[in-house]
Amino acid sequence: MKPFNSLTSAMPPSGIRKIYELSMGIEGCMHLEAGQPDFRTPEHILEAVAQAARDGFTQYTSSAGIPDLVNAIARKVTEKNGFHADPKNIVVSPGAVCSLMTTLLAVVEHGDEVLIPDPAWPNYVGQMAVIGSVGVRYPLIPSLGFKIDWDALEKLVTPKTKAMIINTPGNPTGAVFKPETVEKIVDFANRHDIYLIADEVYEDIIFEGGHTSTGLFNEDGRVATVFGFSKTYSATGLRIGYVVCEEKLAALITKLQQPLVSCPSSISQKACVAALNGPQDSIPEMVSVYKSRRDAVVDILKKHDLYLYTPEGAFYIMVDISKTGMESEEFCIELLKQKKVAVSPGDTFGEVSSKFIRIAFCTDTETLVRGTTLLCEYVRDCIPG
Ligand code: PLP
Repeated sequence: MKPFNSLTSAMPPSGIRKIYELSMGIEGCMHLEAGQPDFRTPEHILEAVAQAARDGFTQYTSSAGIPDLVNAIARKVTEKNGFHADPKNIVVSPGAVCSLMTTLLAVVEHGDEVLIPDPAWPNYVGQMAVIGSVGVRYPLIPSLGFKIDWDALEKLVTPKTKAMIINTPGNPTGAVFKPETVEKIVDFANRHDIYLIADEVYEDIIFEGGHTSTGLFNEDGRVATVFGFSKTYSATGLRIGYVVCEEKLAALITKLQQPLVSCPSSISQKACVAALNGPQDSIPEMVSVYKSRRDAVVDILKKHDLYLYTPEGAFYIMVDISKTGMESEEFCIELLKQKKVAVSPGDTFGEVSSKFIRIAFCTDTETLVRGTTLLCEYVRDCIPG
């Protein structure tokens, strides 16, 4: 038989998944690896799911999303993110991952280069493999809390560079870009005539300062901003995200959704209308728990001389384990076997973090504290000499 698609076959498997699967057979394992919020989805959102089902709202919808949801998003973006969005600028999708994919498909062709942060959420690289475009990694600087290395970035631009992905607040780093950084990134994109795809799914999970949306600086329509419901409402399984962008790009993305997904889930869209129009108090409550978990982890790292930076958003921290002399995956497998603590290997996020591991604050504080302490002790035990 002829071989399968060589590009997609070569897509690297997820290092997070590998640790998760290994951890399945381990009783009492402490799960600090997955970015799956551990809060219950607010009741009024769950009620909207049930109501939509009872009403028989189970048919296809328009590809770009139901008007109630698109209008609620337009209001949210205008009021909360601070830049004007009309319904024609919005495309609702089955999750931010889908919005990222369709936006990339709309602007990037086979062979085009796309600037991707290093470290970054691994699915950007997977998406490059699906499209057949080339992911060019631009380094973030660990000692500066994973801020952009501008000199390195400038040198990576070639005539084939078509787009750049940014992610603030960032996974796996928790880094949050200040307004001047976001503005500088948009200037960079303008100067080099490249599209800018901003992944802002963690916009609500910020501990210091606020979120600056890239859409604020979108003067000539080159910025597409992707948001989601998964993290803000602890509702990953609803699978709803959306992109906000210039009208013609939104129309192309809508067209692309047809062969890919037809439309987002009708029931989930109703739930997201309830999420945006209903009470928002679950968000600050959740953020305050994540912040106290972040503070607890930072304290433990400081005590064990493993502190590098304080993440200002999302629910992750990267820990430098280079002192052990071990590769990140090897370290994660051994930590799991010896201490029953599951964390994510840094090499799955990129070369820059190949000697790091990622901790997610998505488990109860007691388990998080115990797991982080065991991790620190394990690092100490592994340091040669
Ligand atoms: N972008 C980043 C940086 C993420 O970490 C995630 C999920 O973990 C997503 C996008 C996908 O979000 P969604 O569940 O809306 O597809």
